[in-house]
Amino acid sequence: MQGSTFDDLRRANARELVQLDFPGYAIGGLSVGEPPEVMYEMVARTTPGLPADRPRYLMGTGTPEDLVESVARGIDLFDCVLPTRNARNGQLFTSEGKINIKNARYAEDDRPLDPACGCYTCATCSRAYLRHLFMAGEINSSTLNTLHNLNFYLDTLRRIRDAIAFGRFESFKVAFRQRLAGEPQDS
Ligand SMILES: [Zn+2]
Repeated sequence: MQGSTFDDLRRANARELVQLDFPGYAIGGLSVGEPPEVMYEMVARTTPGLPADRPRYLMGTGTPEDLVESVARGIDLFDCVLPTRNARNGQLFTSEGKINIKNARYAEDDRPLDPACGCYTCATCSRAYLRHLFMAGEINSSTLNTLHNLNFYLDTLRRIRDAIAFGRFESFKVAFRQRLAGEPQDS
């Protein structure tokens, strides 16, 4: 589905696509640089025009916050370069906010990247070691960071599904936003 940020074009396009009876619907032309509020608004206005029994896929989105906000507006599927590209650049998503592993404050930090994470990287590496690999230009840095960021994204979607199943998605959304807005504490 296309239509940029024009509500009427998107609704008209949705009507035409639904007549073709596809097994699922991809929403394109968003997450291309417009402010997040505009994207959320467009998603909220267009998903009601798509059948509830078919997956709705928001193309090229996004940050962890975008995932939660878009699910709240009726989205089921995502794809994005963000978790892998940011991992290669040393920017890591954690349950307490973003970590830039280049930062000197992690040089002697022997804690796991995210104590709440069950991935291979968090189970076996310290922040200090991950920083060392990054600074040394080791390819393992990209691999280990990518494993963690992908795990964080998949775990976020898993937690969203659980919250919906248990009827507490609204409170999950508020708590998730608050935690991610912070920066991980030093101790
Ligand atoms: Zn991890």
